[in-house]
Amino acid sequence: MGLFTKDIKTMDDLFLHGLQDIYYAEQQITKALPKLIEKATNRDLIAGLKAHLEETNKQIERLDKVFLKLEKKPSGTQCPAIDGLIKETDEVTGEVDDKAVLDAAIVAGAQAVEHYEICRYGTLVAWAQKLGMPEVAGLLEQTLAEEKATDKALSALAEQSVNAYAEAAE
Ligand code: FE
Ligand code: FE
Ligand code: FE
Repeated sequence: MGLFTKDIKTMDDLFLHGLQDIYYAEQQITKALPKLIEKATNRDLIAGLKAHLEETNKQIERLDKVFLKLEKKPSGTQCPAIDGLIKETDEVTGEVDDKAVLDAAIVAGAQAVEHYEICRYGTLVAWAQKLGMPEVAGLLEQTLAEEKATDKALSALAEQSVNAYAEAAE
Protein backbone atom coordinates (compact mmCIF):
# COMPACT_ATOMS: atom_id res chain seq x y z
CA MET A 1 0.00 0.00 0.00
CA GLY A 2 1.32 3.46 -0.89
CA LEU A 3 1.77 5.99 1.83
CA PHE A 4 0.85 9.07 -0.17
CA THR A 5 -1.30 7.69 -2.94
CA LYS A 6 -4.11 5.21 -2.89
CA ASP A 7 -3.00 2.11 -4.80
CA ILE A 8 -6.41 0.59 -5.42
CA LYS A 9 -8.13 2.78 -7.96
CA THR A 10 -10.16 0.45 -10.15
CA MET A 11 -12.14 -2.77 -9.79
CA ASP A 12 -9.27 -4.50 -11.58
CA ASP A 13 -6.88 -3.21 -8.90
CA LEU A 14 -9.20 -4.46 -6.18
CA PHE A 15 -9.50 -7.84 -7.92
CA LEU A 16 -5.70 -8.10 -8.13
CA HIS A 17 -5.43 -7.21 -4.45
CA GLY A 18 -7.90 -10.00 -3.65
CA LEU A 19 -5.80 -12.46 -5.63
CA GLN A 20 -2.66 -11.41 -3.81
CA ASP A 21 -4.47 -11.74 -0.49
CA ILE A 22 -5.58 -15.32 -1.17
CA TYR A 23 -2.16 -16.17 -2.65
CA TYR A 24 -0.56 -15.18 0.65
CA ALA A 25 -3.30 -16.99 2.59
CA GLU A 26 -2.81 -20.26 0.67
CA GLN A 27 0.91 -20.10 1.38
CA GLN A 28 0.34 -19.59 5.09
CA ILE A 29 -2.10 -22.53 5.03
CA THR A 30 0.59 -24.82 3.56
CA LYS A 31 2.78 -23.89 6.53
CA ALA A 32 0.01 -24.30 9.12
CA LEU A 33 -1.46 -27.63 7.96
CA PRO A 34 1.62 -29.78 8.76
CA LYS A 35 1.45 -28.56 12.36
CA LEU A 36 -2.23 -29.54 12.62
CA ILE A 37 -1.48 -32.93 11.01
CA GLU A 38 1.14 -33.53 13.68
CA LYS A 39 -1.30 -32.70 16.49
CA ALA A 40 -4.29 -34.65 15.15
CA THR A 41 -5.17 -38.16 16.36
CA ASN A 42 -8.17 -39.34 14.32
CA ARG A 43 -6.93 -41.25 11.27
CA ASP A 44 -9.57 -39.85 8.93
CA LEU A 45 -8.77 -36.33 10.12
CA ILE A 46 -5.06 -36.82 9.48
CA ALA A 47 -5.75 -38.25 6.02
CA GLY A 48 -8.16 -35.42 5.23
CA LEU A 49 -5.72 -32.71 6.29
CA LYS A 50 -2.91 -34.35 4.31
CA ALA A 51 -5.08 -34.53 1.21
CA HIS A 52 -6.02 -30.88 1.59
CA LEU A 53 -2.37 -29.90 1.99
CA GLU A 54 -1.64 -31.48 -1.40
CA GLU A 55 -4.73 -29.82 -2.82
CA THR A 56 -3.60 -26.48 -1.42
CA ASN A 57 -0.26 -26.76 -3.22
CA LYS A 58 -2.19 -27.30 -6.45
CA GLN A 59 -4.39 -24.31 -5.64
CA ILE A 60 -1.27 -22.16 -5.42
CA GLU A 61 -0.22 -23.44 -8.85
CA ARG A 62 -3.70 -22.59 -10.10
CA LEU A 63 -3.28 -19.05 -8.79
CA ASP A 64 0.08 -18.87 -10.59
CA LYS A 65 -1.88 -19.64 -13.77
CA VAL A 66 -4.37 -16.88 -12.97
CA PHE A 67 -1.57 -14.33 -12.50
CA LEU A 68 -0.01 -15.52 -15.77
CA LYS A 69 -3.31 -15.02 -17.61
CA LEU A 70 -3.49 -11.50 -16.24
CA GLU A 71 0.17 -10.94 -17.20
CA LYS A 72 1.03 -10.17 -13.60
CA LYS A 73 3.86 -11.52 -11.54
CA PRO A 74 2.47 -13.92 -8.87
CA SER A 75 2.82 -12.17 -5.54
CA GLY A 76 1.18 -12.12 -2.15
CA THR A 77 0.09 -9.35 0.12
CA GLN A 78 -0.21 -9.88 3.84
CA CYS A 79 -3.64 -11.11 4.92
CA PRO A 80 -4.18 -10.27 8.60
CA ALA A 81 -7.35 -12.36 8.63
CA ILE A 82 -5.62 -15.66 7.80
CA ASP A 83 -2.74 -14.82 10.13
CA GLY A 84 -5.30 -14.30 12.90
CA LEU A 85 -7.22 -17.48 12.17
CA ILE A 86 -4.03 -19.56 12.12
CA LYS A 87 -2.74 -17.95 15.31
CA GLU A 88 -6.05 -18.49 17.08
CA THR A 89 -6.13 -22.18 16.12
CA ASP A 90 -2.53 -22.57 17.22
CA GLU A 91 -3.32 -21.00 20.59
CA VAL A 92 -6.51 -22.95 21.24
CA THR A 93 -5.06 -26.32 20.19
CA GLY A 94 -2.06 -25.61 22.43
CA GLU A 95 -4.43 -25.46 25.40
CA VAL A 96 -6.07 -28.85 24.81
CA ASP A 97 -4.92 -32.14 26.26
CA ASP A 98 -7.73 -34.64 25.61
CA LYS A 99 -7.23 -36.21 22.17
CA ALA A 100 -10.86 -36.15 21.03
CA VAL A 101 -11.25 -32.57 22.23
CA LEU A 102 -8.01 -31.64 20.45
CA ASP A 103 -9.31 -33.18 17.21
CA ALA A 104 -12.52 -31.16 17.58
CA ALA A 105 -10.46 -27.97 18.10
CA ILE A 106 -8.36 -28.75 15.02
CA VAL A 107 -11.46 -29.34 12.89
CA ALA A 108 -13.03 -26.09 14.12
CA GLY A 109 -9.87 -24.13 13.30
CA ALA A 110 -9.58 -25.75 9.88
CA GLN A 111 -13.22 -24.95 9.13
CA ALA A 112 -12.69 -21.29 10.02
CA VAL A 113 -9.90 -21.21 7.42
CA GLU A 114 -12.08 -22.94 4.80
CA HIS A 115 -14.85 -20.44 5.42
CA TYR A 116 -12.46 -17.55 4.90
CA GLU A 117 -11.32 -19.13 1.63
CA ILE A 118 -14.89 -19.80 0.50
CA CYS A 119 -15.86 -16.16 1.05
CA ARG A 120 -12.75 -14.81 -0.71
CA TYR A 121 -12.91 -17.18 -3.69
CA GLY A 122 -16.67 -16.61 -3.95
CA THR A 123 -16.09 -12.87 -4.30
CA LEU A 124 -13.19 -13.34 -6.74
CA VAL A 125 -15.25 -15.66 -8.98
CA ALA A 126 -18.10 -13.14 -9.08
CA TRP A 127 -15.75 -10.24 -9.85
CA ALA A 128 -13.86 -12.19 -12.52
CA GLN A 129 -17.16 -12.94 -14.25
CA LYS A 130 -18.29 -9.30 -14.04
CA LEU A 131 -14.92 -7.99 -15.22
CA GLY A 132 -15.05 -10.19 -18.33
CA MET A 133 -12.50 -12.86 -17.36
CA PRO A 134 -14.43 -16.12 -17.79
CA GLU A 135 -11.29 -18.31 -17.93
CA VAL A 136 -9.95 -16.84 -14.71
CA ALA A 137 -13.39 -17.22 -13.14
CA GLY A 138 -13.37 -20.88 -14.17
CA LEU A 139 -10.01 -21.54 -12.53
CA LEU A 140 -11.04 -19.83 -9.31
CA GLU A 141 -14.32 -21.70 -9.35
CA GLN A 142 -12.44 -25.03 -9.31
CA THR A 143 -10.68 -23.99 -6.12
CA LEU A 144 -13.92 -22.69 -4.62
CA ALA A 145 -15.48 -26.12 -5.18
CA GLU A 146 -12.52 -27.80 -3.46
CA GLU A 147 -12.77 -25.52 -0.44
CA LYS A 148 -16.49 -26.21 -0.15
CA ALA A 149 -15.92 -29.97 -0.38
CA THR A 150 -13.22 -29.73 2.28
CA ASP A 151 -15.54 -27.81 4.57
CA LYS A 152 -18.20 -30.48 4.12
CA ALA A 153 -15.73 -33.28 4.87
CA LEU A 154 -14.60 -31.41 7.98
CA SER A 155 -18.20 -31.17 9.18
CA ALA A 156 -18.41 -34.97 9.11
CA LEU A 157 -15.09 -35.19 10.98
CA ALA A 158 -16.35 -32.72 13.57
CA GLU A 159 -19.18 -35.09 14.30
CA GLN A 160 -16.76 -38.02 14.57
CA SER A 161 -14.51 -36.31 17.08
CA VAL A 162 -17.39 -35.07 19.20
CA ASN A 163 -18.95 -38.56 19.12
CA ALA A 164 -15.63 -40.12 20.13
CA TYR A 165 -15.51 -37.75 23.08
CA ALA A 166 -19.08 -38.58 24.09
CA GLU A 167 -18.44 -42.34 23.86
CA ALA A 168 -15.29 -42.10 25.95
CA ALA A 169 -17.21 -40.15 28.57
CA GLU A 170 -19.98 -42.78 28.84
FE1 FE B 1 -7.11 -23.20 -0.31
FE1 FE C 1 -7.36 -11.26 3.63
FE1 FE D 1 -8.72 -24.82 1.88
